[in-house]
Amino acid sequence: SWSSSDSVISTDSTGETLGPGKPLRVLLLGGSDVGKTAFASIFAGAADSMESDDCQIYGDEVCERTIEVDGEEATITLLDTWTTEEDDGRCVAEDQCMQTGDAYLLLYSITDRASFLRASELRITLRCHRPARHTPIILVGNKCDLVRCREVSVSEGLACAAVFDCKFIETSAAMQHNVWEAFRGIVRQLRLRRDSKEA
Ligand code: GDP
Repeated sequence: SWSSSDSVISTDSTGETLGPGKPLRVLLLGGSDVGKTAFASIFAGAADSMESDDCQIYGDEVCERTIEVDGEEATITLLDTWTTEEDDGRCVAEDQCMQTGDAYLLLYSITDRASFLRASELRITLRCHRPARHTPIILVGNKCDLVRCREVSVSEGLACAAVFDCKFIETSAAMQHNVWEAFRGIVRQLRLRRDSKEA
């Protein structure tokens, strides 16, 4: 995870262009222990069983790979965000993170209500940094395998996503359930945005 600002990938000046071969910068956002690292390793690890150069890893925070979504290839650069927090809980690299992504996976754990509230806070912060309404964001309720420990219901997740004007999915990184569907969802949203611009 990001510990200093010099590892932050720069955003292009508009933050808007999206050519067909241009990697999509997808950021993992969320409180601690929600499964960001697990998501990143599924994304990175899937390369192990395929061609070894399929996934480029720069340090341990950035991984780039090409996936096929609806018959069309898309290259995603996955950025696992900071974990370094100041004493007041504010993240050191928060500003850079918020300005870097083309799209965001906003994670919480369904077993941890505090992480759900944290996701709401991050969504609000994100809105301040990225006022454009069409920045793709998916609210991700992870750890849905832990049914007995559930603290946040599906309907609460859905309601939150509706308020925040973003998509919603429940996943289990442990069971590898819906993780790729979340990445595909991001690509589909970015394409919708691209296609509506071209129209
Ligand atoms: P991060 O702090 O957001 O990067 O969270 P991690 O990816 O390190 O996950 C925190 C803990 O939750 C680890 O012990 C993971 O093994 C576990 N974990 C992550 N995702 C899941 C999941 O979907 N289900 C279960 N049962 N455990 C998970």
